[in-house]
Amino acid sequence: MEKLIKYTKGCACARDLLCDNGFDDLIDFPLDLFASGLGGTIVHKPMTNSDGRIIFGKKNTIIEINNGIPFEEKRRFTIAHEIGHLVMHKGIDIHNDNEATMSWFNNKEKQARNGRVEYEANQFASELLMPSIIFYKKQKGKKFSPKLLRDLSSYFKTSLTSVAFKYLELGDHPICLFHSYNKRVKYWMRNDDFPHYITDCTKLSPPEDSVAMEFFEKGKIHTKEKSKQPIWKSTWLELNKYENDNDFNFYEFCIVTPAYDSVISIVWEE
Ligand SMILES: [Zn+2]
Repeated sequence: MEKLIKYTKGCACARDLLCDNGFDDLIDFPLDLFASGLGGTIVHKPMTNSDGRIIFGKKNTIIEINNGIPFEEKRRFTIAHEIGHLVMHKGIDIHNDNEATMSWFNNKEKQARNGRVEYEANQFASELLMPSIIFYKKQKGKKFSPKLLRDLSSYFKTSLTSVAFKYLELGDHPICLFHSYNKRVKYWMRNDDFPHYITDCTKLSPPEDSVAMEFFEKGKIHTKEKSKQPIWKSTWLELNKYENDNDFNFYEFCIVTPAYDSVISIVWEE
Protein backbone atom coordinates (compact mmCIF):
# COMPACT_ATOMS: atom_id res chain seq x y z
CA MET A 1 0.00 0.00 0.00
CA GLU A 2 1.32 3.42 -0.88
CA LYS A 3 1.59 6.01 1.85
CA LEU A 4 -0.44 9.13 1.55
CA ILE A 5 1.95 12.05 1.25
CA LYS A 6 0.88 14.78 3.67
CA TYR A 7 1.94 18.20 2.48
CA THR A 8 2.36 20.47 5.47
CA LYS A 9 2.72 24.21 4.85
CA GLY A 10 6.53 24.18 4.58
CA CYS A 11 6.46 21.05 2.49
CA ALA A 12 3.85 22.42 0.06
CA CYS A 13 5.78 25.67 -0.28
CA ALA A 14 8.98 23.81 -1.33
CA ARG A 15 7.05 21.54 -3.71
CA ASP A 16 5.42 24.56 -5.42
CA LEU A 17 8.72 26.42 -5.61
CA LEU A 18 10.43 23.47 -7.34
CA CYS A 19 7.50 23.05 -9.69
CA ASP A 20 7.24 26.78 -10.57
CA ASN A 21 10.94 26.86 -11.42
CA GLY A 22 10.85 23.68 -13.47
CA PHE A 23 12.87 21.45 -11.15
CA ASP A 24 12.14 17.83 -10.27
CA ASP A 25 14.86 17.99 -7.61
CA LEU A 26 17.98 19.96 -6.67
CA ILE A 27 20.31 16.98 -6.28
CA ASP A 28 22.79 18.32 -8.85
CA PHE A 29 21.95 22.00 -8.63
CA PRO A 30 24.05 24.38 -6.48
CA LEU A 31 21.90 25.67 -3.62
CA ASP A 32 23.79 28.98 -3.54
CA LEU A 33 22.59 29.66 -7.08
CA PHE A 34 19.05 28.61 -6.23
CA ALA A 35 19.04 31.01 -3.26
CA SER A 36 20.40 33.85 -5.36
CA GLY A 37 17.56 33.41 -7.84
CA LEU A 38 15.21 34.03 -4.92
CA GLY A 39 17.04 37.18 -3.78
CA GLY A 40 19.27 35.65 -1.11
CA THR A 41 23.05 35.96 -1.14
CA ILE A 42 24.87 33.09 0.56
CA VAL A 43 28.08 33.91 2.40
CA HIS A 44 30.20 31.04 3.76
CA LYS A 45 32.22 32.16 6.80
CA PRO A 46 33.43 30.97 10.21
CA MET A 47 30.71 31.37 12.85
CA THR A 48 30.54 30.53 16.56
CA ASN A 49 27.47 28.91 18.15
CA SER A 50 25.60 29.17 14.90
CA ASP A 51 25.15 27.01 11.81
CA GLY A 52 23.30 29.57 9.76
CA ARG A 53 21.89 33.06 9.97
CA ILE A 54 19.57 35.12 7.84
CA ILE A 55 19.58 38.90 7.72
CA PHE A 56 16.66 40.42 5.89
CA GLY A 57 17.47 43.76 4.26
CA LYS A 58 15.21 46.22 2.46
CA LYS A 59 16.46 45.04 -0.93
CA ASN A 60 18.83 42.15 -0.38
CA THR A 61 18.86 39.32 2.07
CA ILE A 62 22.10 37.81 3.31
CA ILE A 63 22.31 34.18 4.39
CA GLU A 64 25.45 33.34 6.35
CA ILE A 65 26.49 29.69 6.59
CA ASN A 66 29.10 28.38 8.99
CA ASN A 67 31.96 27.01 6.88
CA GLY A 68 33.03 24.93 9.90
CA ILE A 69 30.08 22.54 9.46
CA PRO A 70 31.97 19.27 8.94
CA PHE A 71 29.63 17.56 6.49
CA GLU A 72 28.52 18.78 3.08
CA GLU A 73 25.14 17.08 3.66
CA LYS A 74 24.52 19.04 6.85
CA ARG A 75 25.68 22.26 5.19
CA ARG A 76 23.16 21.72 2.40
CA PHE A 77 20.36 21.06 4.88
CA THR A 78 21.23 24.28 6.73
CA ILE A 79 21.19 26.31 3.49
CA ALA A 80 17.82 24.79 2.54
CA HIS A 81 16.45 25.62 6.02
CA GLU A 82 17.52 29.27 5.60
CA ILE A 83 15.98 29.39 2.09
CA GLY A 84 12.78 28.28 3.84
CA HIS A 85 12.97 31.33 6.11
CA LEU A 86 13.75 33.49 3.06
CA VAL A 87 10.60 32.51 1.19
CA MET A 88 8.20 32.00 4.10
CA HIS A 89 9.22 34.25 6.98
CA LYS A 90 10.00 37.68 5.59
CA GLY A 91 8.79 39.53 8.71
CA ILE A 92 11.62 38.37 10.99
CA ASP A 93 14.55 40.74 10.55
CA ILE A 94 17.45 38.63 11.83
CA HIS A 95 17.51 35.01 12.77
CA ASN A 96 20.18 32.63 14.07
CA ASP A 97 20.09 28.87 13.70
CA ASN A 98 21.98 26.18 15.59
CA GLU A 99 21.45 22.58 16.68
CA ALA A 100 18.75 23.66 19.14
CA THR A 101 16.63 25.88 16.88
CA MET A 102 16.86 23.39 14.01
CA SER A 103 15.82 20.43 16.17
CA TRP A 104 13.13 18.26 14.60
CA PHE A 105 11.56 17.54 17.94
CA ASN A 106 9.75 20.79 18.46
CA ASN A 107 6.21 19.45 18.39
CA LYS A 108 5.47 20.71 21.86
CA GLU A 109 6.47 24.21 20.91
CA LYS A 110 4.87 24.04 17.50
CA GLN A 111 2.10 26.37 18.63
CA ALA A 112 4.55 29.00 19.81
CA ARG A 113 5.69 31.26 17.00
CA ASN A 114 9.37 30.30 17.08
CA GLY A 115 8.60 26.60 17.17
CA ARG A 116 6.21 26.91 14.26
CA VAL A 117 8.66 28.93 12.16
CA GLU A 118 11.43 26.35 12.74
CA TYR A 119 9.11 23.45 12.04
CA GLU A 120 8.05 25.05 8.75
CA ALA A 121 11.65 25.75 7.72
CA ASN A 122 12.62 22.12 8.44
CA GLN A 123 9.65 20.76 6.51
CA PHE A 124 10.55 23.10 3.66
CA ALA A 125 14.20 22.01 3.64
CA SER A 126 13.23 18.36 3.78
CA GLU A 127 10.94 18.64 0.75
CA LEU A 128 13.33 20.90 -1.19
CA LEU A 129 16.18 18.38 -0.85
CA MET A 130 14.11 15.17 -0.80
CA PRO A 131 10.92 15.60 -2.85
CA SER A 132 8.41 13.19 -1.28
CA ILE A 133 7.50 11.36 -4.47
CA ILE A 134 11.15 10.69 -5.35
CA PHE A 135 12.00 9.75 -1.75
CA TYR A 136 9.12 7.31 -1.58
CA LYS A 137 10.19 5.58 -4.81
CA LYS A 138 13.85 5.45 -3.73
CA GLN A 139 13.15 3.58 -0.50
CA LYS A 140 10.34 1.38 -1.82
CA GLY A 141 11.09 -2.34 -1.74
CA LYS A 142 14.37 -1.90 0.12
CA LYS A 143 15.01 -3.47 3.49
CA PHE A 144 15.28 -0.94 6.32
CA SER A 145 18.81 -0.61 7.72
CA PRO A 146 21.29 2.07 8.79
CA LYS A 147 22.91 1.55 5.39
CA LEU A 148 19.66 2.41 3.60
CA LEU A 149 19.51 5.70 5.52
CA ARG A 150 23.17 6.42 4.68
CA ASP A 151 22.58 5.61 1.01
CA LEU A 152 19.58 7.95 0.93
CA SER A 153 21.63 10.63 2.68
CA SER A 154 24.35 10.48 0.03
CA TYR A 155 21.86 10.24 -2.85
CA PHE A 156 19.88 13.30 -1.73
CA LYS A 157 22.99 15.03 -0.32
CA THR A 158 21.32 15.93 2.95
CA SER A 159 21.92 15.16 6.62
CA LEU A 160 21.34 11.68 8.02
CA THR A 161 19.04 13.16 10.66
CA SER A 162 16.81 14.79 8.04
CA VAL A 163 16.69 11.48 6.14
CA ALA A 164 15.66 9.62 9.32
CA PHE A 165 12.75 12.03 9.84
CA LYS A 166 11.70 11.79 6.20
CA TYR A 167 11.79 8.01 6.49
CA LEU A 168 9.64 8.19 9.63
CA GLU A 169 7.02 10.05 7.57
CA LEU A 170 7.23 8.16 4.31
CA GLY A 171 9.25 4.98 4.68
CA ASP A 172 7.72 1.55 4.28
CA HIS A 173 9.12 0.03 7.47
CA PRO A 174 7.65 1.20 10.82
CA ILE A 175 10.28 2.90 12.99
CA CYS A 176 10.37 5.15 16.02
CA LEU A 177 12.86 7.83 17.00
CA PHE A 178 14.05 9.00 20.41
CA HIS A 179 16.09 12.14 20.91
CA SER A 180 18.33 12.18 23.97
CA TYR A 181 20.36 15.18 24.98
CA ASN A 182 22.69 15.53 27.92
CA LYS A 183 21.68 12.05 29.16
CA ARG A 184 17.97 12.88 29.14
CA VAL A 185 15.32 11.73 26.68
CA LYS A 186 13.77 14.88 25.23
CA TYR A 187 11.19 13.62 22.77
CA TRP A 188 10.12 10.57 20.86
CA MET A 189 8.11 10.00 17.70
CA ARG A 190 6.83 6.99 15.83
CA ASN A 191 5.04 6.21 12.56
CA ASP A 192 1.28 5.99 12.68
CA ASP A 193 1.58 2.29 11.87
CA PHE A 194 4.26 1.43 14.45
CA PRO A 195 2.59 -1.54 16.13
CA HIS A 196 3.97 -1.26 19.69
CA TYR A 197 3.48 0.94 22.71
CA ILE A 198 6.35 3.13 23.77
CA THR A 199 7.36 3.44 27.40
CA ASP A 200 7.23 7.18 27.95
CA CYS A 201 10.66 8.09 29.23
CA THR A 202 10.59 11.80 28.38
CA LYS A 203 12.79 13.79 30.79
CA LEU A 204 14.25 10.53 32.20
CA SER A 205 17.62 8.94 31.44
CA PRO A 206 17.70 6.70 28.36
CA PRO A 207 17.16 3.02 29.31
CA GLU A 208 20.18 1.41 31.00
CA ASP A 209 20.53 -1.22 28.26
CA SER A 210 20.03 1.15 25.31
CA VAL A 211 22.71 2.01 22.77
CA ALA A 212 22.09 5.70 23.52
CA MET A 213 23.04 5.10 27.17
CA GLU A 214 26.22 3.31 26.06
CA PHE A 215 27.29 6.61 24.50
CA PHE A 216 26.40 8.74 27.53
CA GLU A 217 27.99 6.34 30.04
CA LYS A 218 31.00 5.04 28.12
CA GLY A 219 31.39 7.40 25.17
CA LYS A 220 30.84 4.42 22.88
CA ILE A 221 30.09 5.18 19.23
CA HIS A 222 29.66 2.09 17.04
CA THR A 223 31.38 1.84 13.67
CA LYS A 224 29.31 1.96 10.49
CA GLU A 225 29.50 -1.83 10.16
CA LYS A 226 28.23 -2.37 13.70
CA SER A 227 25.78 0.51 13.88
CA LYS A 228 22.79 -1.85 13.82
CA GLN A 229 22.74 -3.09 17.44
CA PRO A 230 20.36 -5.76 18.76
CA ILE A 231 18.28 -4.64 21.76
CA TRP A 232 15.37 -6.11 23.75
CA LYS A 233 11.82 -5.10 23.02
CA SER A 234 11.61 -4.02 26.66
CA THR A 235 14.57 -1.64 26.22
CA TRP A 236 12.50 1.18 24.71
CA LEU A 237 9.03 -0.34 24.38
CA GLU A 238 6.34 -1.80 26.58
CA LEU A 239 6.55 -5.56 26.96
CA ASN A 240 3.09 -6.98 27.60
CA LYS A 241 2.66 -9.53 30.38
CA TYR A 242 1.99 -12.37 27.94
CA GLU A 243 5.05 -11.52 25.82
CA ASN A 244 8.63 -12.77 26.07
CA ASP A 245 11.58 -10.57 25.17
CA ASN A 246 13.23 -13.55 23.42
CA ASP A 247 10.46 -13.67 20.81
CA PHE A 248 11.29 -10.29 19.27
CA ASN A 249 14.08 -8.97 17.05
CA PHE A 250 14.51 -5.30 17.83
CA TYR A 251 17.42 -3.08 16.82
CA GLU A 252 18.70 0.37 17.66
CA PHE A 253 20.79 2.61 15.41
CA CYS A 254 22.17 5.79 16.98
CA ILE A 255 23.04 9.00 15.16
CA VAL A 256 25.45 10.59 17.63
CA THR A 257 26.56 14.23 17.60
CA PRO A 258 29.24 14.32 20.31
CA ALA A 259 29.77 18.09 20.01
CA TYR A 260 26.17 18.65 21.17
CA ASP A 261 25.99 15.62 23.48
CA SER A 262 23.02 14.55 21.41
CA VAL A 263 21.82 11.11 20.28
CA ILE A 264 18.98 10.15 17.98
CA SER A 265 18.01 6.51 18.47
CA ILE A 266 16.18 4.80 15.64
CA VAL A 267 14.36 1.69 16.88
CA TRP A 268 12.77 -0.96 14.67
CA GLU A 269 11.71 -4.59 14.57
CA GLU A 270 12.69 -7.16 11.98
ZN1 LIG B 1 15.65 28.54 11.54
